[in-house]
Amino acid sequence: MISVSSISEYVYCPAKMYLKYTQDNSAQTQEMIAGKISQEIRRGYEEITKRNIWNIKENVEIDDIFGILFDEIPQFIENTSNKYYKMDIIDPTNLDELCVNLNENFKLESQFMALKIKSILNNTKKRGMEIAEMFYPQSLLEFSLKNEELNLSGKVDKIEIINGIYYPIETKTGIPPGSGVWLADALQIAAYAILIDYELNKEVLVGFIDYIKIGERRPVVINSILHNKLFGVLDSINGMFEKQEMPEFKIFRNKCEKCEYNEICEYYG
Ligand code: SF4
Repeated sequence: MISVSSISEYVYCPAKMYLKYTQDNSAQTQEMIAGKISQEIRRGYEEITKRNIWNIKENVEIDDIFGILFDEIPQFIENTSNKYYKMDIIDPTNLDELCVNLNENFKLESQFMALKIKSILNNTKKRGMEIAEMFYPQSLLEFSLKNEELNLSGKVDKIEIINGIYYPIETKTGIPPGSGVWLADALQIAAYAILIDYELNKEVLVGFIDYIKIGERRPVVINSILHNKLFGVLDSINGMFEKQEMPEFKIFRNKCEKCEYNEICEYYG
């Protein structure tokens, strides 16, 4: 079965996907491990923040709101970081740098959120849980989807449910394009949209990519053009596995240097 995450690998480099499925699917670069740690810490940050928003009372000043939101975060980052030090799967210098950056980003996000919450308190009757739901709507986290007919499966980072409408959301730690989203990211959202339609019987018209490095959520509109592109890629992937041979393509040195398979890839060598 094709996994949704491998669609972006195929778009990045068809040989990479072929190697992953036929040789070794456990290879990971430091960048990939850092991406996973950063997603885990972000998820924890969101859970803590959501819980702490409930504790914000009326008539509090912005600095106090910031304190309520942020005070626990540095300790949480340190605890998670210590866990990964012990596991010894990432260079400690990279881990330190990652944690310092995350701490700074969350500090800024919490300051910005404190401003918004103060404004909500001043201008609306919303309190506690209602405010938390404005920032963190009801969602399904790391939700698994699978369809035999499509030969497709995957685990979407998050599905936010607002007024009964389902929005698939993927978090990306890499650098986004100048505007819009990368094609590979759009195809992933389109694949989740189709799986949600098939499995949960909910039509999805739009999904989002959270580019956490720049703190921006960008939309992906699900239309027939994107559907056609997705089915074209799925056909090519199925064809590649039927033939059981490495696909032909043009290599790009800068991509290969970052690739976790460059030591066994015959094209790179
Ligand atoms: S080393 Fe380059 S050509 Fe080989 S799988 Fe990786 S990205 Fe593709």
